[in-house]
Amino acid sequence: MKKQTAGRDKLGKLAPQFAHLNDDVLFGEVWSREEQLSARDRSMITIAALFSAGQYPQLKSHLQMGKEHGVTKREAVELVTHLAFYCGWPKAWSTFPLIEEVYADEDVQRPLFGLGEPNTAFGKYFTGQSYLKPLNMAGVGVFNVSFEPRCRNNWHIHHGGGQILLCTDGNGWYQQWGEEARALRPGDVVYIAPEIKHWHGAAKDGWFTHIAIEIPSEHGGNEWCEPVDDEHYDKLG
Ligand code: MN
Repeated sequence: MKKQTAGRDKLGKLAPQFAHLNDDVLFGEVWSREEQLSARDRSMITIAALFSAGQYPQLKSHLQMGKEHGVTKREAVELVTHLAFYCGWPKAWSTFPLIEEVYADEDVQRPLFGLGEPNTAFGKYFTGQSYLKPLNMAGVGVFNVSFEPRCRNNWHIHHGGGQILLCTDGNGWYQQWGEEARALRPGDVVYIAPEIKHWHGAAKDGWFTHIAIEIPSEHGGNEWCEPVDDEHYDKLG
């Protein structure tokens, strides 16, 4: 728990006693008791209390502090979804934009093998923005593909050789025609046999990156079909 100076910084002149109580007692003697309750847990309950009271400027400060104490964006969103039932629906509507602001810097993606460039080569076969970093070597097509949240490629078929996906970052989906979609996480491997109609892409609330390896074949080639429309995509997970 780092030393808190917000009281003195903002109110030291106007209300020096309040600033002292805030920085030295509330934070210095209560928040700092991490053996009794971790800073992360204290952040969660403080966020819940401020949410319940509708104290949005303080809530935003504590969302920021919660982030520093290890509360993830996903957890913050879940916390607000949960509290909406206990404290009021409009409060959730007012709080989600604060989460968006506090975690905005996380929307800049830094995948394991890099982001590459906007996917101009195949972008017309994708819904949403994707990024491509070719890692081709020794005549094998290897592509690092990053999808922004909700981005996915059209239904498509790899003729001849098929494809292997090695998932490296974020949350994604893979679906074969006529089958349930499969959620993908870093470390998952997908083998896509030739002639199988399928699509792959990101989850609704996060980026996704995989390495796509084209299995070499004399009769290789991709056949791009219809987009995965919102009606279909929105039913996932
Ligand atoms: Mn594919």
